[in-house]
Amino acid sequence: MELNITCIPGDGIGPEIVREAKKVLNKVAKCYGHQINYTDILMGGASIDVHGVPLTEEAVETAKAADAVLMGSIGGDTTTSPWYQLPPNLRPEAGLLAIRKALNLFANLRPAVLYEELAEACPLKPEISEKGFDMLIMRELTGGLYFGERRTVEENGVRKAVDTLTYDEKEIRRIAVKGFDIARKRRKKVTSVDKANVLDSSRLWRSVVEEVAKDYPEVALEHMLVDNCAMQLVKDPAQFDVILTENMFGDILSDEASMVTGSIGMLASASLNDTKFGLYEPSHGSAPDIAGKDIANPIATVLSAAMMLRYSFDLDKEADAIETAVKEVLKEGCRTGDIMSAGCEQVSCSRMGDLLAERIR
Ligand code: NAD
Repeated sequence: MELNITCIPGDGIGPEIVREAKKVLNKVAKCYGHQINYTDILMGGASIDVHGVPLTEEAVETAKAADAVLMGSIGGDTTTSPWYQLPPNLRPEAGLLAIRKALNLFANLRPAVLYEELAEACPLKPEISEKGFDMLIMRELTGGLYFGERRTVEENGVRKAVDTLTYDEKEIRRIAVKGFDIARKRRKKVTSVDKANVLDSSRLWRSVVEEVAKDYPEVALEHMLVDNCAMQLVKDPAQFDVILTENMFGDILSDEASMVTGSIGMLASASLNDTKFGLYEPSHGSAPDIAGKDIANPIATVLSAAMMLRYSFDLDKEADAIETAVKEVLKEGCRTGDIMSAGCEQVSCSRMGDLLAERIR
């Protein structure tokens, strides 16, 4: 198969971690007989330095022409970098918002996996963490409160602010379909999270999700109120497979789920549109404090590349091979500094990439 991938190395540790992800992808291509064509584009601070803007039209067109986009991370030190003296619409993060919008990426996927070998990093009690967990939060990204009408007014000397939470059934249906499609590739369970005891938008959410569920008889559906879900994530995270939810609930729950893994350098993410196209990136930022030192953990980016193979190219075997390589390397005791623990061998970013690539079979 021919895979056309646009890469955004970005800023800070971005170029280092993308380089390692490419190393692993190239080994996959070699072992499984694929051809990968990469095209790099600039975004964030790297684009500001060259073009004066965080994302150019040409870069967007290049990304649109690809099958998928693999990104490192963008941004610099927000207190010292000159990029943050620019107006907000010209800062590095504006490039990320612009590309998400231009590519119509409405579904955000964030897996939260607790690896047995990293259980020590989990802040939960051992009797909970020892069961492990492997969940995926599917968050609606372009609707709801963050995009609804908003205003601040003053009435009779009293300031008043209004935000509106709007969803139509089409927006709910398309994210629900993504959620069920992905659950079908996993452990076949969807937990739809809402606040249907209070909100009309949640009652519509629940009824549309139920309609979609009829097309997926092999996937079990349960509904959970968002306040209960927040509790269950720390009480019994092993119960979850796919958590399907709207924009603001997903924003909060996905951060909570990442925190319970305890390892920021391990967390992948994907943002998808209604075709197979997606943008894949680690959940962490550009870590300017460790940039250029070859000590960053490339695993979140490598696992994002595995998600790309699975969701944009339907190459499940190849994605499995990457995920297995990560587990093997951890089991052998190799760690980058951020996940280092006593008795393990500390390796550099590039060495971690080599070890992962060697284990692709
Ligand atoms: P950060 O995630 O970059 O770093 C937080 C801490 O985690 C730092 O100590 C860093 O060294 C460490 N860390 C992060 N990733 C690591 C890795 N792969 N290996 C080892 N250690 C790692 O968050 P921050 O410091 O708040 O943000 C830095 C910059 O990144 C800012 O400009 C911010 O806006 C940007 N950012 C970008 C994205 C993105 O590109 N999607 C996301 C979040 C933050």
